[in-house]
This record gives sequence, C-alpha cells and structure tokens, in this order.
Amino acid sequence: MNALTKLQATWLDWFNPEGREQKIKDYIALANKFIWKRQGSFLAAAILAAIYFDAITVFGYYSIVVLTELLDVRLGWSAKNWDGQDLITGRKILKRIAINTTISAVAISAFIINIAVQQAAPGHFTPLFFMLSASVFAAMYNSQMSGILLLRLSIYMFAFVYIALLDVFRFTPPLSSNIWLELWTVIFVLYFIGDIAMKFYLGYQWNIKQMDRLKEENERTKAALEVKSQFLSVVSHELRTPLTSIIGSLELMKNNKAQAFPDSLMPVLNIAARNGHRLHALVEDLLDLQKLEAGEMVFEFKPMDAGDLVREAIDATAGYASKVGVQVEIDACEEGCVIKADQKRLIQVLNNLLSNALKFSDEGAVVTVNVSAIDDRVRISVQDEGVGIPDGVRDVVFGKFTQVDSSDIRKVGGTGLGLNISQQIIERHDAEIDYVSEVGKGTTFHLEFNRLTDATGDSETFRDVTQAA
Ligand code: ADP
Repeated sequence: MNALTKLQATWLDWFNPEGREQKIKDYIALANKFIWKRQGSFLAAAILAAIYFDAITVFGYYSIVVLTELLDVRLGWSAKNWDGQDLITGRKILKRIAINTTISAVAISAFIINIAVQQAAPGHFTPLFFMLSASVFAAMYNSQMSGILLLRLSIYMFAFVYIALLDVFRFTPPLSSNIWLELWTVIFVLYFIGDIAMKFYLGYQWNIKQMDRLKEENERTKAALEVKSQFLSVVSHELRTPLTSIIGSLELMKNNKAQAFPDSLMPVLNIAARNGHRLHALVEDLLDLQKLEAGEMVFEFKPMDAGDLVREAIDATAGYASKVGVQVEIDACEEGCVIKADQKRLIQVLNNLLSNALKFSDEGAVVTVNVSAIDDRVRISVQDEGVGIPDGVRDVVFGKFTQVDSSDIRKVGGTGLGLNISQQIIERHDAEIDYVSEVGKGTTFHLEFNRLTDATGDSETFRDVTQAA
C-alpha cells in the first residue's frame, strides 16, 4: 500500500461512523453544552479588541465566528434524531462536523491574526494569548474525536506561527532580537499545547474503554442472573410435584390406621416426613425468591384491617405454638388500622415472623403481637422472650441463606431465606421492616405501613416489574 492509498484508507475510515456513535454524540453534546461559555469569551475578546483596534474589522470577523456557532447549533438539532445505526446519516454528520470545524477554526484564527496585523509595534502578546486560550479550550473540549481535534489544532498552530513570523518578515531583525525569541517561545508553547491535547484525548479514550467494559460486565451479569433464575424456576417446579406426593404418602403411612406397618418403623417415617416438609418449605422459598428477583410476583393490593390479618396468621401458626409450648397473645387496635396490602403475601410475612418468634423461644414463654396506629402509620410488632440477636448482624438476619448462629439454628431448622423474602415483600408494600433485640432477653420485629383513612380505597393488581427491568 503506497502512502497515498494509506492516507485515502485512513480518511475513509475516519468518515466511517460505525462504532463512533458515542464519540460523535459526546462531541455534539459538549459543543452545545459550552456554547454560552464560548460565546462569552468570544464576545469579551471582541469587545477588548474593538476598544484598542479597528472596531469594524474586529466585529466583522466576530460575526463570522458567531455564524459558525449557529452552524454547530443546527448540526446539533439534526444529530439529535440520529439513532447511531443509520451509517449514511452518520457519515453526513461527520462531514458536517469537519466542515464546521474548518470554517470555525479559520474564522477564529483570522479574527486573531487581524489583531496582530493591526499592531504596528513589534510583539504580539494579546493575539498570541488569544490563540493560546482558543487552543487550550479546543484541547479540553474536542478530545472525543482525534481527527477533528487535529484539524482544529493544525489551523490554530498555523495561525500561531503566522503571528510570530509577522514581525520576522516585517522588521527582518537580527537573530539576537526579541522578535526571534518570541518565535522560539511560540514553538515551545506549541509543544505543550500538543501535549495537553494528547493527555485529554487519552483520558477520554480511557473513559470510553472503561464504559464499554462496564457495559459488557453488565450484560454478562444480566445473562448470568437470567440463567440462574431459569435454573431455579425449573428445578424448583420439577422438585415440587414429586415432593408433594412423597409427603402425602409419608403422612398416610404415618397415620397408619390399618396397622399395616410395625411400630418400630414410626420413628423412621417421622424423620422422613419432617425432612420432606423441610425440603418442601425450601422449594417454596426458592420459588418465591426467584419470582421476586425476576419481577414475576403478582401482588393484589386491597384495603384491609391489620388486626384481622394478624388474627389469621396467629390461627395459622397455632398448631406450631402448642407444639413448642409457647403462648401467643394479641393486642390489636379495634378500628382505624386499615392498610393496603396483598393478603396472601402479608400473611406469609407474619407467619415467618411468628414462627421465628416461636422457634427461638423457650417452652412456656409468651409471644406478643401488637397492632397499633401511630399518626398516619400502622405498626405491627411481634415480640418474643427468646434467645435474642446480637448487635451488628442485620445483614445476616435479612440476608439470603444466612443464619445468625447456624449451629443453633440447625436444632430448630430453617433455610435462612424467610426474612429476606419478607423484606422484599414488605418493600413492595411501600412499608418497612426492622427489629430491636437484646441477647438473652428477646426480639421484637416490627412492620410499618401507611395508614388508610378511607377504607374504601381502590384495589389494584400489581405485577412487580420494577425488579425485572
Ligand atoms: P430461618 O429460616 O433460618 O428462620 P430467617 O430469614 O427467617 O431464616 O431468619 C434468619 C435468621 O435470623 C435466623 O436464622 C435467626 O438466626 C435470626 N432470627 C430471626 N428471627 C429471630 C428471632 N425472633 N429471635 C432470634 N433470632 C432470630
């Protein structure tokens, strides 16, 4: 490939917007964002120059600069609707950016060179500083596209050198004069401008790469979560059906009305049934967790009395309470404790809190359930006199598959999922769940809901899609 074809290939590649959407969009967004900042500095420079030099030519060039800004604004409008997919439009936008950049850089350089030309005495402090400001501004804000940055800086560099050479040609001074020193200084400063531009460009490239990496990671995480969710769903469903019939058969055998099995078999049957129920509870928890995380759990919110809900949950756990020898007392407000809730899901949460309170209490202890209205809130609390929870383990209590003291819990059983599921369900109710506890004295879990003053409030079915998105 000879040099010309190489240059042509680079040029064509440069005009290929594929994979450059982000850069083009960033470039246009920044150009539009800083339009007033740019306009402010152009106007300030024009006013300053108009006071000391010929105001008519100064404002003449300034008008051209403003005109190129208008072209940029128009470009911003037409690029707004570009979806990044249509390559022909992308190529057109790129070409317009290049043309606008050329006109704008030439106009700015001409504006500044005009000042230098009007300076009769040697030395061009003001125009050179104007050039420096314009170059640094470009280096800072045009770093999204290397070609465009290079184009603008090349024009500026030409203007820089032109201004410095003006006096060399005008006065043909000896090498020892200040005019030559000014020229060498300009070349020295040009190197720094190039360096700054490079730093900003590399910084921007690094940011883009990091963003791409983050996007990729995000996609991979999403895909892995999707697979995990499907796996959980399939396995749980496949387990649930046979498990239900196994548990049913074991219960039948345990009841053993026909005395078909010897009594010596009963302990084994009891263990098998107990473990069957455990496994069933785990499968149910896994399915709930998967539904919550996939945003597939359907909630049917209706206004209901919190006291009624609590009584229903206490009835449901009465068998377990008498089995472990713990008494459950209720202190519920008679009226005015209406909340908007999904009955089935809230009963599930209350069952979890109650069975935990019973599970961690000693025989003969009392568990108290309280329902009360405080201002515009309804509070349900479940208080036990059990083992308590040590400080600093909130994440473990509400975590997935986590238990505070696994050795202790093994005695009483549990999956470590109940409170995590409860927390997610309560959050979907726009409510709060928390606890206070003292080791050896007991624990109080409480739920807090918005209180409905109008019990006829609308019902609504709510598929929890927030999580799935
Ligand atoms: P599990 O199925 O193990 O009960 P949970 O998510 O319901 O799972 O509870 C998580 C852990 O929080 C329990 O294993 C236990 O360590 C602690 N915990 C929950 N409720 C109580 C309570 N009332 N008293 C003491 N510890 C509790």
